[in-house]
Amino acid sequence: MEKVLTLHHDTPELWKLDNYRSKGGYDGLEKALKEMEPDQIIGMVRDAGLRGRGGAGFPSGVKWGFLPKDDRPRYLICNADESEPGTFKDRVLLEQDPHHIIEGIVITCFAVKASLAFVYMRGEFFLGAQRMQAAIDEAYEAGYLGKNILGTGLDVDILVHRGAGAYICGEETGLIESLEGKRAYPRIKPPFPANIGAFGMPTVVNNAETLANVPHIILKGQEWFNSIGPERNRGTRMFCVSGKVQKPGVYELPLGVPLRDIIFDYAGGLHEGRTLKAVIPGGGSARILTADEAMQVDSDFDSLQRAGSMGGSGGIMVLDDTVCIVQSTYIIAEFFHDESCGQCSPCREGTGWVEKILHRVEYGEGRPGDIDLMLRMGENIFGRTICPLGDASVWPTESAINKFRDEFEYHIREKSCLPGTESIL
Ligand code: NAD
Ligand code: SF4
Repeated sequence: MEKVLTLHHDTPELWKLDNYRSKGGYDGLEKALKEMEPDQIIGMVRDAGLRGRGGAGFPSGVKWGFLPKDDRPRYLICNADESEPGTFKDRVLLEQDPHHIIEGIVITCFAVKASLAFVYMRGEFFLGAQRMQAAIDEAYEAGYLGKNILGTGLDVDILVHRGAGAYICGEETGLIESLEGKRAYPRIKPPFPANIGAFGMPTVVNNAETLANVPHIILKGQEWFNSIGPERNRGTRMFCVSGKVQKPGVYELPLGVPLRDIIFDYAGGLHEGRTLKAVIPGGGSARILTADEAMQVDSDFDSLQRAGSMGGSGGIMVLDDTVCIVQSTYIIAEFFHDESCGQCSPCREGTGWVEKILHRVEYGEGRPGDIDLMLRMGENIFGRTICPLGDASVWPTESAINKFRDEFEYHIREKSCLPGTESIL
């Protein structure tokens, strides 16, 4: 299967406009602006079945269709605050191929009738920010941005906003607060940003990879897009494979490719003599899969959900038989506690307590009853918070305990890791 988004990533200096143009870059924009109407584009993206690549997998055309039919100004935000553990695909797009994202942004602005877009970028993406700003400057110069784009009367400006390294700024309403100059406290939804978003105006928030798909759908049509991947899970995905594999990296593949193929064929399989223990398939927030579960599941959103986990941000973390499950669970719990914005008590306090208990279990001070205590704490966080970080903090611990309970019990009883597993801290 041919790649779509990363097809030209071997081209030297693809981030420069001339090189992007030489590969057909901005042809999708020309077609959209000169041959199509905004509603036609929304319908095409909806019928193509493009689902959001940031994590939730929400249908993009449907999201655009939620915008109210009034004449308030509206904004587009490209969410490039990629911070989910094990996820590094947007960074590749930003650094290698920023014009691809810009082209998707301008087409989307035309479709949803926005004249100002923001690229909210993770603060640590220093090179990505430089390349994106340089590409924006080139696009203005060449008439792909600014006033009267390609002589069609369309005006679109793009502003780059760099975050300061907080995971919660990737949550769309936290991001909007941050963009407005405030602390990134997520808002209660509804109202959704489609109705009341940035600066109180209707706002579409789309992930960078999602937007990069738009020019291809415009150029090749919804039927082409529909021919890739299983029903309701169309298109390719930039899977990020990390952990105990021989060739970690970003692999663009059709949605639905078996997880087994991604790990063992594309990412080179495990290291010599090792066996698969578990896989975390959708970034750090996803429920862990046992080796048996992982070997039987496909990589699309729906298959992973049916398997009790999720496709999430496309980060696939591979754990072999040397990995201590208690320790890896502790590392994730520490992350969520660190990144909780502190706005709601169950998340602020609960993530800290779970981290503390996991720490003592991992370091030989676990107490009988600690395992059930953590499960009860999870029940008191889940569904009781403003944003999904609270729920996301529960899934890794709850699923690791349910699937690897013996290992947690061994830690408490023997005050050490299972023989053969090693510390990565
Ligand atoms: P969500 O399901 O609440 O929303 C999905 C999108 O659809 C949002 O843009 C939302 O505004 C819109 N939407 C949903 N219902 C709507 C309605 N009725 N009207 C208008 N708009 C509507 O999920 P979310 O909070 O946006 O995302 C959660 C996911 O983010 C998690 O599953 C996780 O995988 C992912 N995540 C990704 C990263 C990363 O770095 N890529 C980081 C953290 C979390
Ligand atoms: Fe903040 Fe956690 Fe509440 Fe989200 S769930 S708003 S991160 S305290």
